[in-house]
Amino acid sequence: MSQKKIDRRSKESMVQFLNDHFRYNTMNSWNGSTSYAHCIKLHNLGLSSEQLDKAFKVIQTDIWDELDMQIQDFVTQMHGAYTIGSNGRSGGYLVLLSSEWKSTGYKSYCRTCYQRNYKACGNTEGDNTCGSCRATGDQGRVNYAMPPRQLSVSHAGIDDEGDFEDWSMEQLRARVNVVEAFDSACDDILVAFLDMLEMDVVEETIMVPEKRYVLQTSHAQ
Ligand SMILES: [Zn+2]
Repeated sequence: MSQKKIDRRSKESMVQFLNDHFRYNTMNSWNGSTSYAHCIKLHNLGLSSEQLDKAFKVIQTDIWDELDMQIQDFVTQMHGAYTIGSNGRSGGYLVLLSSEWKSTGYKSYCRTCYQRNYKACGNTEGDNTCGSCRATGDQGRVNYAMPPRQLSVSHAGIDDEGDFEDWSMEQLRARVNVVEAFDSACDDILVAFLDMLEMDVVEETIMVPEKRYVLQTSHAQ
């Protein structure tokens, strides 16, 4: 998927790179918002028929658990400003989405039961009693060293209009950097997926505990 190096001194080549990039919907087709994307449909990956057979088995497993690591690397690289979503029927497209780190609002947590709390503690003696399990003191609540955050993802389109006329060279370079990093992250995801084709798909039966009600002879009789 990687393209050749884009000349960042030329407005024309940067605009052309952005305008020519494959795009896909960020949500539904009727919503009309699109962003930079890559098609990762299995038939599009240039796999041999043997690899293709294997790929259909591999996608029955939780592949996004594995591939999420690659996406998280990209989010970190982008300081949370962008992430990669999958869209389309059976997730056949990787789409660039804008995002933002937001605080969860939690300031402290309980060292005994891990219940989280919106209030900070440690201001006065005994103010760290857990509201859930009542643990206090060394066992009670403690403030987070790094308050937890979560990634808030937007499904708004990115450069829907494709009109870069008024963009400065700086703005264009910044956007090309993001889209190039996205392309390279999609390459990494693909490589990770191809690595999975070397692995065996094993069928596993798991026992799930289930609660049921049965009738028993009453002991009172
Ligand atoms: Zn607790």
